Amino acid sequence: MHAPFNFDVEIGMNKFTFNRGIWEKGQELPEQMENEEHFDYLERVGYSTNSVSYGTEGRERLEIFENQANHTFFALISPTGQKSFKVYIPDFPSYMLFIKDYGSSFAANGADSTQKEIMETLGKLFRAEHGHDWSEMCHLCDPVAWRRWNEAQEMPIDS
Ligand SMILES: [Zn+2]
Repeated sequence: MHAPFNFDVEIGMNKFTFNRGIWEKGQELPEQMENEEHFDYLERVGYSTNSVSYGTEGRERLEIFENQANHTFFALISPTGQKSFKVYIPDFPSYMLFIKDYGSSFAANGADSTQKEIMETLGKLFRAEHGHDWSEMCHLCDPVAWRRWNEAQEMPIDS
């Protein structure tokens, strides 16, 4: 029986190094062992499990880990929440360039998701308070339009 196809292991196309603005294939870090969880691996090769993340959990997301001993960085990037790409960032200037180039795109996506959540929550709150969708009206949220609408309904069709 075949193991499920693993793009990460079979092709290794998900490992890159971002060195002073230049993208390179592969990484000089030790290999991840078979059956080793990704976070266990990062800890083993020196990266703090404290991370900074941009974007949204389970969606477009960028997570950055720092090695406290040699001040290299490791970025885990998930463009759509499916597959992860692993980027080794060998020094601080490279990190700064990386964040400058890519941080804002993920941060904007995260802010967008947060705003959508806020709008959904407000929509639910509105419905609970008014008993109707925010795009409709009642005597509380739009008294003038509500009165006009009712007056129009009460007007006899033929006078
Ligand atoms: Zn209302």
